[in-house]
Amino acid sequence: MNGNILVVEDEPKLARLLSDYLKASGFEPFLLAHGSEVVAWVREHKPALVLLDLMLPGRDGMDICKELRTFSSVPVIMVTARVEEIDRLLGLELGADDYICKPFSPREVVARVKAVLRRTRDGQTVQAEGLVLDEHRFRAKYHDHDLGLTAVEFKLLQFLVANPGRIYSRQQLMDQIYPDARIVSDRTIDSHIKKLRRKIEAIDPGARLIHSVYSVGYKFEPVPIA
Ligand code: CA
Repeated sequence: MNGNILVVEDEPKLARLLSDYLKASGFEPFLLAHGSEVVAWVREHKPALVLLDLMLPGRDGMDICKELRTFSSVPVIMVTARVEEIDRLLGLELGADDYICKPFSPREVVARVKAVLRRTRDGQTVQAEGLVLDEHRFRAKYHDHDLGLTAVEFKLLQFLVANPGRIYSRQQLMDQIYPDARIVSDRTIDSHIKKLRRKIEAIDPGARLIHSVYSVGYKFEPVPIA
């Protein structure tokens, strides 16, 4: 199991304290004190979780969290010094998984880290190229905007995303979507795909994520096909 936890905290004493407690609980903490270093670090090291202070030199935690969500579903716990800030943060839908208010006991932080890891490992989110899928709620976000998918559209997208580049026939897609082998016509899949694309393109008109493969079926591929 990857137990790398990125701790972003600019108060050295607090950072060390958190690091000690995380280590004692079997995690491998890494410390960053500067906001501008976080995104690149996460891209390179793919930590299991990020503990992210809100007020940081260089770049604030909100901004960082938003950018992380454009390419990663890494669990993020935001840490703030003001309890009233949490309501505002929740309203902004930054995509953080939990919020902790300072002052906190390091023991509580470790408990929250474990809880968030448990929850996210249960398959809460998967992501690909700006897409974040929440399996529990059948919700999909694209670049932070809710796609507003129906359950069928969600399942279709989820199935395609799981194997980027792989081509599925309409029959294979129907078997996934209607496991009870209901008789539906090929056109049903075409119409779901059409709606799915329309919803994605409503957020990014240039997005070409789901491609038709002539006479075969469909595939998910975020890279444009030349
Ligand atoms: Ca701070």
